[in-house]
Amino acid sequence: SGSVVTADMVDDVARKHFPPCMRNVYERLKKDHHLKHFGRLQLVLFLKGIGLPLDEAIPFWRKMYGASMSDDKFNKEYKYNIRHSYGQEGRRANYPPKSSPPSPESSQLVYSRSTRGLHLDPSIRVSSVESRFPSLESRAIVSLFKSFGNLRRIADPSVDPTLTPLPLRSCQQILTQNQPGTQDSHGCPFRHFSPDNLQSFLLSSYPQLERSSPEMRDIMDSVKSAHYHVACTRVFEVTHGLKKGDGLGKDAESVSHPNKYTDRSRELER
Ligand code: SF4
Repeated sequence: SGSVVTADMVDDVARKHFPPCMRNVYERLKKDHHLKHFGRLQLVLFLKGIGLPLDEAIPFWRKMYGASMSDDKFNKEYKYNIRHSYGQEGRRANYPPKSSPPSPESSQLVYSRSTRGLHLDPSIRVSSVESRFPSLESRAIVSLFKSFGNLRRIADPSVDPTLTPLPLRSCQQILTQNQPGTQDSHGCPFRHFSPDNLQSFLLSSYPQLERSSPEMRDIMDSVKSAHYHVACTRVFEVTHGLKKGDGLGKDAESVSHPNKYTDRSRELER
């Protein structure tokens, strides 16, 4: 579900549909034109999941880094990582994330000495390999093969991570992995912000929330008892005109994945 998001649409989608974790990282990027590693990874994967294709992600990130970064630095250090996060096809990944087994497609990538080209069967040429695997430079594949000293060696995604798209991050992973330090922007605000910071962040990001409302009290109570998903679900309900207990508006489901939060939010808008 959910349609393609272009680079120019991200800001609008962020204001209307991002969950607090992504809203926070996005606002930090807008303000600082910079993100530390895990914040960048959290947002890159999330944006991929909401439907920002690779060819929109590159101009989006270039624009966000702005004049604080040279084209040269962007191309050398950042573009590759963005392409890597998108994996071989830059398509929307499905959640919940699974670790991807080697795909039959990538196992058929071979370099042929006689025609000096990369092939998916012996009959398919470099250009079509590149269009099917946009995250890969053919040079990178060639050097991979060479490094194994066997030009006909089968490419194995478990050896070269660039062959596999990185899976989207669930709430559980965001809540428990890579605990953020003070300079970081990744993580879950319900879990990783102080109560005061959380409250002012929510008030400034979601105008439907009011300081001394029963809804805000619900949210802060859930946080206190470490029910972060419940707090997040309550934010979703309030900002979408739903009643307490409606959840994401379908089957009273509660928030378990930031991409699902945004997908449901965009569906409700239609
Ligand atoms: Fe993001 Fe999940 Fe935390 Fe909500 S509960 S802010 S979706 S990590």
